[in-house]
Amino acid sequence: MTVLAPRPQAGGALPLPAREPIESLPVLMLAPHSSCNCKCVMCDIWKDRQGLDLSVERLKGLMPELERLRVRRVCLTGGEPLMHANLRQFCDVLRDAGIGITLLSTGLLLERHASWLGESIDDVVVSLDGPPEIHDAIRRVRRAFELLARGVAAVRTALLTPHGPRAAASFSTSCDSAVNRSR
Ligand code: SF4
Repeated sequence: MTVLAPRPQAGGALPLPAREPIESLPVLMLAPHSSCNCKCVMCDIWKDRQGLDLSVERLKGLMPELERLRVRRVCLTGGEPLMHANLRQFCDVLRDAGIGITLLSTGLLLERHASWLGESIDDVVVSLDGPPEIHDAIRRVRRAFELLARGVAAVRTALLTPHGPRAAASFSTSCDSAVNRSR
């Protein structure tokens, strides 16, 4: 978890900056949970077995700072955010403050959480490494591709009404997002 350094105090060893070093932070990357449910070959986050949550109460305590920094969107990253013990309540705190939410996910737990994600999350970005056998080999998780596909389908189904999609939640893969944001 990234913790912001305390603000320099007058009379301290370091000279005070002329202005606040960070006045605005429109997009905040936040890791609600420290562990992951994949074991990707290019990463060592999964070696964290502590499974630490950033608690809802701790988030509430940080909200004045998010307001001061005029945070407009929080990207939930990790580890795997859906491994948090109460991510729905965590998201409620952000939504109540008018902050948009993007979920970055391995997709393995999407099916389990599909019923509430469409109402609480604006965008879901899933990591997709290639066809099933390549994706599963990189993730080092059996049936990871299949679970991801089922999760995406479940969230889409949860959003459907007889008149079309119920909410504006959208999906993209991490490759799509990288391309779109570079335009
Ligand atoms: S899904 Fe992301 S955080 Fe998890 S092991 Fe893979 S690269 Fe690391």
